[in-house]
Amino acid sequence: MRTRWVRWGTAMLALTVVVGTVLATTKHPVDVTCPVCARAFKAAEFMSTNSFGGQDRDFLGHARGEQVFLFACWTCPKCLYSGYGDDFKAGAVPDAVLKTLREDRPLKSPVAIAADLENTEDIPAWVRYDLAIQTAKVRGEKPLVLAWLTLRAGQTQRFGDAGLARIGDLATRAKALVAKLPPSPPERDDYLQATWRARRLFELAASADAGLSDPDRELARVLAAYDYARRGELPDVRRVLAVLRPEGKALEGPVALVVAELAERVDREAHYLALAAASFESALTLDLVKADERVNHRYLVGELHRRVGDPAKALAWLEPLAAEAGLDAWIATWVTEAIARAKGEPAGPPAK
Ligand SMILES: [Zn+2]
Repeated sequence: MRTRWVRWGTAMLALTVVVGTVLATTKHPVDVTCPVCARAFKAAEFMSTNSFGGQDRDFLGHARGEQVFLFACWTCPKCLYSGYGDDFKAGAVPDAVLKTLREDRPLKSPVAIAADLENTEDIPAWVRYDLAIQTAKVRGEKPLVLAWLTLRAGQTQRFGDAGLARIGDLATRAKALVAKLPPSPPERDDYLQATWRARRLFELAASADAGLSDPDRELARVLAAYDYARRGELPDVRRVLAVLRPEGKALEGPVALVVAELAERVDREAHYLALAAASFESALTLDLVKADERVNHRYLVGELHRRVGDPAKALAWLEPLAAEAGLDAWIATWVTEAIARAKGEPAGPPAK
C-alpha cells in the first residue's frame, strides 16, 4: 500500500529503484525542441536512481546522489513552456493550448532567464516548477496535478548547501562537534539520522556542560539548521534561525550569509507548501482523490500546514485521523509524530 501510493505520488517521474551496489543516480543528456516555439535546448533524462536517502514525511523520497525531480522538469528558455519530458513530445500540446501560449504569452518567469541559455538545468529548479504550474493551469489540469507540481516546487528548496562552503575549516570543526554527540540511533534511515543529528546539535549548542566556544556553538546551530532544511522541517529551521539571529542583532561574516540564504529558502518553500496544501484540499473537496488514497491525502494536508507553521490548521486535519480505526501502521505513526510536532515537539527522535 505504502509503496504503491508513494510510487503514485511520483508517478510523473517514473522512478526506477535500483537495488544492489549501484547507488548513484545516473542520467543522460537529451536535445529537446520546444513544441510551442521550436527553440532547441538541452536537458537530461534519468536512467536510474535509488531510494537510499530516506523519505521526508511529506512524501519526498531522497536518493543518494542527485535527485531526479530536480532535473526532470524542463523549461524552454525562450517561451518558458514547462513540464516533464512527455510534455515536450510531438503532439503533446493540444492546439487550443498552443494558440493561447503563442498568442497570449501568459507564462511569466519569477527570475530573468538569459535569451541565449542552452541548458534548461541552468534555470533554478524552483523556477522551472513554478513555470510548470503556470503551464499546467493553461492546460486546464486538475487540482491534484497542480498540487503535486506545487509540492515539488517547494521541495526543491531542500537541496543546495553552497552557503556552508563559506564557513572556514568547516569539515574539521563539524567533525569535532559531531564527535561530541551521543552514539547515533540504530535506525539506518537517512531521514531519522538527519533529524536525530539536528536535534542533538541544537541541544549541544544550548548545553552549558559542552564547553563549546562561541563560534562552535554558532556552527552547531548552523549545522542543525541545514540538517532540518534538507528535510523540509521548516518550523525547526525557523526555531534555530531565531536563536542564531535574535531580533535586532546584526550577524557578521559568513554565518550572516548562511543564515540569510537559509531564511530565503525556508520562506520560498513555505510559500509553495501553503499553496500545495490548498490544492490538495481542493482535490479532496472535489472528490478527485481515489477512495483508498484519501487517508494519505488528508494526512498530507495536515502535515503541510504543520510545516508551513500553522499548527491549528494542521491539528484540525490530523487529530480526526488519529481517532480513526484501521489506519495502516506506518501512516498511524506519521500522524502521531505530526501531531506531536504541531504541538511543539522538535523533529527527530528524542534522546534515549
Ligand atoms: Zn518554447
